[in-house]
Amino acid sequence: MNKLTDSVQYLKGVGPARARLFNRLGIYTVRDLLYYFPRTYLDRSKIKTIKEIISERPINTETETIISGQVLAVSMYPTRSGKRILEVGVGDDTGIITAVWFNQPFLKRVFAKGQKLILAGKLAHYGRTLQIASPEYEVIPTQFLPDQNGGFTPTHTQGIVPCYGLTESLGQKFIRRLMKETVPVYAPLVPDALPKTLTGGLIPLPDALKEMHFPTSMESMGPARKRLVYEELLLLQLALGIKRNQIKKSAVKYPIKISGFLDSRIRARIPFQLTNAQERVIGELRQDLESPHPMHRLLQGDVGSGKTIVAVYAILSAIGNKLQAAFMAPTEILAEQHYRTLSRLLTGSQVRIAFLRSGIAKAERLATIADIKAGNIDLVIGTHALIQKAVEFAKLGLVIIDEQHKFGVVQRDMLAGKSDNPHLLVMTATPIPRTLALTAFGDLDVSTIDELPPGRQPVRTLLRPSVKVPEAIEFIRNKIKEGRQVYFVYPIIDESDKLPIKSASQMAKQLKEIFSEYQVALLHGRKTDRHKEKIMNDFRAGKVNILVSTIVIEVGIDVPNASIMAIEHAERYGLAQLHQLRGRIGRGAHKSYCLLFGDFTTPDAESRLRIMEATTDGFRIAEEDLRIRGPGEFFGTKQSGIPEFKLANLSADFPVLQQTRQDAQGILANDPFLSTPPHYKLKQIIESTYKDFFPIHRLTTD
Ligand code: ADP
Ligand code: MG
Repeated sequence: MNKLTDSVQYLKGVGPARARLFNRLGIYTVRDLLYYFPRTYLDRSKIKTIKEIISERPINTETETIISGQVLAVSMYPTRSGKRILEVGVGDDTGIITAVWFNQPFLKRVFAKGQKLILAGKLAHYGRTLQIASPEYEVIPTQFLPDQNGGFTPTHTQGIVPCYGLTESLGQKFIRRLMKETVPVYAPLVPDALPKTLTGGLIPLPDALKEMHFPTSMESMGPARKRLVYEELLLLQLALGIKRNQIKKSAVKYPIKISGFLDSRIRARIPFQLTNAQERVIGELRQDLESPHPMHRLLQGDVGSGKTIVAVYAILSAIGNKLQAAFMAPTEILAEQHYRTLSRLLTGSQVRIAFLRSGIAKAERLATIADIKAGNIDLVIGTHALIQKAVEFAKLGLVIIDEQHKFGVVQRDMLAGKSDNPHLLVMTATPIPRTLALTAFGDLDVSTIDELPPGRQPVRTLLRPSVKVPEAIEFIRNKIKEGRQVYFVYPIIDESDKLPIKSASQMAKQLKEIFSEYQVALLHGRKTDRHKEKIMNDFRAGKVNILVSTIVIEVGIDVPNASIMAIEHAERYGLAQLHQLRGRIGRGAHKSYCLLFGDFTTPDAESRLRIMEATTDGFRIAEEDLRIRGPGEFFGTKQSGIPEFKLANLSADFPVLQQTRQDAQGILANDPFLSTPPHYKLKQIIESTYKDFFPIHRLTTD
């Protein structure tokens, strides 16, 4: 029984109960255990003599001290407060010191006079004597006595000692001991999957594994980590590359041809002159769409840059080729808005549009679904409702996903999976930092709209303490008098005893009184769809002057006449969220104002929001947000199907990331699916590690 794929259960001292605890750490097999690396290390490489440590000035009570000696006396006694103290006198050739433990009576049985042991702990003054307090200890077994440590290498108290992430009742000492017994035996069995051409300059895999767990020195860990990070990132880049190859080499079922005639028919529907950036991106899309291989493209462009019309171009290209298109948005409100925009653009045309969302009556929904399946519908716009199983298409040629960061890759692929290799366009207003462009989004081509439509008035943003809200009211009243519309945004729907913050419901009431001469409406996620729809219609039509809302208006809403947004408790939002919210205004020719009200407990919290005043550049804001919050939360990379890294750190290891990308491209250029013998092992590992990453296209295409 010497296999890496064996359950950890059969390792000495583990058993079924402990194996279940290991499972919670994601460790099932012996191989998993080998790749469960320490969180940190303790440098216990310097043993000092007792004389040295007591004569040091000043006495070091700050960091750990390691000593090695022999037990001279063991005694336990109660303190005044009823606790029990165990004192163990330890001596080496140079002196004597006392080690103390509090309230661990069972330790009395561990120590015995004459034992040799190593202690690692902090020194503490006790009256005028010096003690070593609650040290980690390691008793050297008698068979290795009497000479020094004999052949015994301490696991816990000497050298560079690993510290693992733990779960309840799997103690540090237990895991260390298990690793100590397991790693040297099994590490040599781990096959090195890297082709010979790439291992130059890297240390052998078994050595790297051993060094990561039990480094010979802090410095020797560097090359070990490098070897493993390289492998981890190379596997990722290969997985991404294979996915791209699968897409690039697969053939679309329904080809698209964009004739000059179709192009001009589409353009005739566009009510404004496209910006240069929009034209460039449409060019990129056209190339993709007319290629025999499916498009797989990310369109990024700041809020208000005009992504929708680019999507419309692609949609009409598909429909012009007698194909169906599906357009998915993350919220009802946004989906509904797209439905209106497109219906308006296409009035008088023959394009048949359907709107699908979860809230509609069953009969109506079934009828729509039947029409889609029969091919009586050309364009379906909707929310997640589009990915439900019942929705099938007759000839789905194009899938568009708006505000892609609100969806997971799995959802994206589920919609695309409703046809054979349809063209896919995902859109986002959240700029993608370079690390993520090479990882979470590495399987997509990227187009960028880096220009706003002309005539936009930059939004003026002002950050104020909440006591200043009343002063803003008259300013806002004047703007409404001029015909403008206003958003008020609050973090919660209803008031709560737990949170001392204003709610949308409560403030809608107050604002109705304050602005009694105007129409004030309340919108939030718990209203029925019908209700939401009516409110948005009234707001769009100008019947409602003030819309009091929650974060539900964050994405996509486009009402150009609304030029003021007041956000209270601004400190409760992420920067990217604020940027998205603010993107709702500044969409027309009117000067727009974003008023951020907040109270700051720390200068840091305030300076974080000051960046909103300083810039309207979504990229800068996104980077700042990323810096503060880290990538996972920001982009939902957790949903990307990419497993969490065991060692790699995307920003620290960025050069390695770039290197592996090159190397992966080199390998895949000659062997696009890793189907030749030198690459079998790589392929196997990718198959098991990246299975969630290939939900639709399975890895093996041959
Ligand atoms: P986003 O990129 O945030 O999705 P939209 O597509 O909603 O932006 O466009 C924002 C607004 O700008 C819409 O009202 C749209 O009609 C308008 N718009 C888009 N492109 C242009 C253009 N080239 N010229 C004028 N207005 C435009
Ligand atoms: Mg949009």
